[in-house]
Amino acid sequence: MNTIEQFNSHVMQTYGRFDVVMEKCGGVTAHDENGKEYIDFGSGIGTNSLGYCDEKWADAVCAQVRSVQHTSNYYYTKTQADFAEKLCNAAGYKNVFFGNSGAEANECAIKIARKYSFDKYGRDAKRYNIITLKNGFHGRTITTLSATGQDSFHNYFFPFTEGFIYAEANNIDDLKSKIDDTVCAVMIEFIQGEGGVNVLDKAYVDELFRICAEKDILVIGDEVQTGMGRTGKLLASENFGVKPNVTTLAKGIAGGIPMGACLADEKTCNVLTRGTHGSTFGGNPIACAGANAVIDRITSEGFLSEVSAKGEYFREKLLAMDGVKSVSGMGLMIGIELEKDNAAEVCAKCIDNGLLVLTAKTKVRLLPPLTISYEDIDRGLAILANVIAE
Ligand SMILES: *Cc1c(COP(=O)(O)O)cnc(C)c1O
Repeated sequence: MNTIEQFNSHVMQTYGRFDVVMEKCGGVTAHDENGKEYIDFGSGIGTNSLGYCDEKWADAVCAQVRSVQHTSNYYYTKTQADFAEKLCNAAGYKNVFFGNSGAEANECAIKIARKYSFDKYGRDAKRYNIITLKNGFHGRTITTLSATGQDSFHNYFFPFTEGFIYAEANNIDDLKSKIDDTVCAVMIEFIQGEGGVNVLDKAYVDELFRICAEKDILVIGDEVQTGMGRTGKLLASENFGVKPNVTTLAKGIAGGIPMGACLADEKTCNVLTRGTHGSTFGGNPIACAGANAVIDRITSEGFLSEVSAKGEYFREKLLAMDGVKSVSGMGLMIGIELEKDNAAEVCAKCIDNGLLVLTAKTKVRLLPPLTISYEDIDRGLAILANVIAE
């Protein structure tokens, strides 16, 4: 039995996978079990922020594995304290709760929003509704599926969690018409990732924050995909000059080890009290050791401006490419609209030709490692240009 047959006989078939078995990877390159090499412009959906098996990251992780691999949240670890301090200081938040995924980070944010209103306005106020944006994506748990404003995600698993209202992105009148005194929070992605790398308008974001501040409605920024340096700032919200009350992170936060984080500001940092939330593995020291290596790199002198510069380089090259209609996104989060509208086909052909790319709705999506070199960008783009031209 080959690996793929073995795999499919025992793992639930919930993903549409390509016939590639990854074996040995390093930097921006992945090798499959047949020794074929791929340049990875997807970095595991933006998780391997420092690329595959970065030396310093791997050393930090291995050292942690050999000291304390896990301890329950009945006790403390220095590694978690270090990361929490670095993250809160760099992001400008008061404190953080650690989980293990983006969906969990969002569950935490949703609990904070509802308890904030419960504590302040009382249960009878029924101030528990959360407005999210149509075409967004917030995760795969029952509640985060509910939060995801796409009908295709609201099937099979009834009953879904109540209390979510969907507003059209970049339509301030639609948002205003949906705000009433039952709303406790608005949850947004500054750039819809899975939804097609769609950037929110600055004017819309400004007005949304103004209205929410006026009505004591919390803003939750889902930065699971956009956070941790992806857009050329630590948080994408910085590109808009705003700060949500709660920001969630995951994907690239620990460089390819599962971790989710929910950051809270002055207003929301004391909402969750002893016994109101928890996670067995949340804040696991191995994940925190990886995350420390990631944040040390991201916050090092000049790193984020390099992410922006590489993003600009990508954009220029892509816009000059035959068959490319438009390019969206920020920094190293890039959506490519193709003239032939054949993103899925291009993605499959790229794999045949040794380049890994992602799709998002009708676009080709790139989330390369933040550490990618210009040389590797050129190598990958040459393959992409050939595939698109075919
Ligand atoms: C990926 C993603 C999630 C879900 O993260 P998981 O780690 O898969 O639970 C949530 N929100 C956004 C914006 C994402 O991109």
